[in-house]
Amino acid sequence: MKVLATDLDRTLLPNGRWEADPQAIELFNQLTEQQQTYVVYVTGRSLELTEQAIAEFGIRHPHVLIGDVGTTIREYAEGQWRFDEAWIAHVRAKSPRWDVAGIKSAVAGIDGLTEQPPENLNPFKQSYFVDHARSEAILAEVERQVQGRFDESAIYSFDSQSGEGLLDFLPQSANKQTALEFVADKLGLEKSAVVFCGDSGNDVFPLTAGFSGVLVRNADEQLVKSVQDAQAANPALRVYFAQGNFQGLSGYYTSGVIEGAYHYGLFTAAA
Ligand SMILES: [Mg+2]
Repeated sequence: MKVLATDLDRTLLPNGRWEADPQAIELFNQLTEQQQTYVVYVTGRSLELTEQAIAEFGIRHPHVLIGDVGTTIREYAEGQWRFDEAWIAHVRAKSPRWDVAGIKSAVAGIDGLTEQPPENLNPFKQSYFVDHARSEAILAEVERQVQGRFDESAIYSFDSQSGEGLLDFLPQSANKQTALEFVADKLGLEKSAVVFCGDSGNDVFPLTAGFSGVLVRNADEQLVKSVQDAQAANPALRVYFAQGNFQGLSGYYTSGVIEGAYHYGLFTAAA
């Protein structure tokens, strides 16, 4: 089985400041169909926002959606989404002290943190906007109030498009990496048999966890550096940096995903 897992925004989706190859999404849809690739989307997006991206950009439906930064897993078959309850049970068992109410009250007094709207939250995801200019002090205070009490991990990122700092509290056992490991395990696959493509922030976890990693050419400098450091510490890590100039494709976004899939032999012939 050939599994191609990919982040969406600015990895499969051409919604950044680099120019996209206009034919790339159609090519991706064709290749994954023709070569019977098992497609997994791994994204911060909710189901609703993923459906929006599918409609807006014309990307195909995946076989599996790991959504909400790894806190939900859904399978898609015959036009229906099916929620993976086993993942919920798995996370609860691994992170027994996870407690949204507890986190909310622990950070309630911190200035510069604003809870995100309900559509960005779920039972395994408690998220805040952060005043980015003061993020260092705010995050230090968050750490003092919360760290480790709720089996949580706190992930900070900066949205360069909106200028907002974003802070997600998730159960320690639920992120893009662990959710993808869960999916690979269910499919009976070694991690190295799964190709994962990303561009930034929390993609660093699956990119350094033993999957066959791909960084699209437009990947954040910071991510490139983190992955190179991880590779220096562990030379067995499989990572490919898309560079473009490949079958007339630029290496940015979808084109980088296609280039990476060819690199690992997931795609073997031309479309
Ligand atoms: Mg992304």
